Amino acid sequence: MKITAVRPHVLRYELEDHFQSAFSTFIDRWACLVEIQCDDGTVGWGECLGPSTANAAVVEAMASLVVGRDPLEIEPIWLELYNQFRDQGQRGLTLTALSGIDIALWDIAGKHFGVPVHVLLGGAFRKEIPAYATGGFRPVGRDRRAALEEETAGYMAEGFTATKIKIGFGVEEDAEVIAAVRAAIGPDARLMIDANHGYDAIEAVALGNRVADLDIDWFEEPVTPELLDAYCEVRAGQPLPVAAGETWHGRWAFAEAIQRRAVDILQPDVCGCGGLTEMKKIISLAEVAGLRLVPHVWGTAVQIAASLQVHAILPPSPPRHERYQPQLEFDRTPNPYRQAIVTRPIEHEKGMVAVPEGPGLGIEINRDMVEKYSV
Ligand code: CA
Repeated sequence: MKITAVRPHVLRYELEDHFQSAFSTFIDRWACLVEIQCDDGTVGWGECLGPSTANAAVVEAMASLVVGRDPLEIEPIWLELYNQFRDQGQRGLTLTALSGIDIALWDIAGKHFGVPVHVLLGGAFRKEIPAYATGGFRPVGRDRRAALEEETAGYMAEGFTATKIKIGFGVEEDAEVIAAVRAAIGPDARLMIDANHGYDAIEAVALGNRVADLDIDWFEEPVTPELLDAYCEVRAGQPLPVAAGETWHGRWAFAEAIQRRAVDILQPDVCGCGGLTEMKKIISLAEVAGLRLVPHVWGTAVQIAASLQVHAILPPSPPRHERYQPQLEFDRTPNPYRQAIVTRPIEHEKGMVAVPEGPGLGIEINRDMVEKYSV
């Protein structure tokens, strides 16, 4: 089997209602899918985290090193691509583009052997993944507090038992909104907060202490990702578990954060950290350090399917009767192509999502929809 083509697909949808994280205003939704075709007709799909047109350019630049290769040589292809691009970037686009290619190769391997990717990766510890509803952005033109109360209560009514909201807009206002959301979802629901590195360490410590009695599972990206010492200060200065990792790409970035004990919870993104190949290694690093790992997810059904394959193989740490179950990040913000690009949407039932059991990633792409949203 030989690879005949590597093709990025850039998707875009212009949003009717805009919303904000600490530093971004979302006026549209972008994605970069990667399609790899083989001479026997097998096609694999992957996805890249982050700036889509830039990812597409790097995927195209990498394509000439991939075309003609045996798609089952996943590790050799990974190392060659990384080695050819590492001088210009050991994180960021090198790894996000490589992630999309790597995931597509695993999809091909699964289809070739007729098994889901989690079987190739060693087998599943679980087939049903508890999901948390990601949303709670600041809506543009609406009262933030009222909008988030309504939105998060809606997730509970829909069957979710956990949700994550966005903060990083100011300690006072954020603390009030978090308390309002806790009241709206009730005392038993899990609640996480995500500052998208919108705070400095002083603010993050203040916020963490202000909401310490609101039973928060984790405080995500309190400060900018390069500042590992600041992460350590936030950990030391307030009681909430600190989480981060969506911008740490490659095993070396995670090794550094782990060695410094910068976070309590690692959040590698399979479409950013270097794909399934690299995720396996990061899972081992987390295990060696005794750190919790809960993958970050922000993408289409391709990414969700790849992340579900990861969730399936996450080793229980520690193994015991009542195990900690890392939750699937399940984006509920508006995105009409997120599930439309696959023939069977990946949905939740009472907050649980099944790991796809078909060959490869376990999804089938709806090409008409990919075309419809392509730019
Ligand atoms: Ca985040």
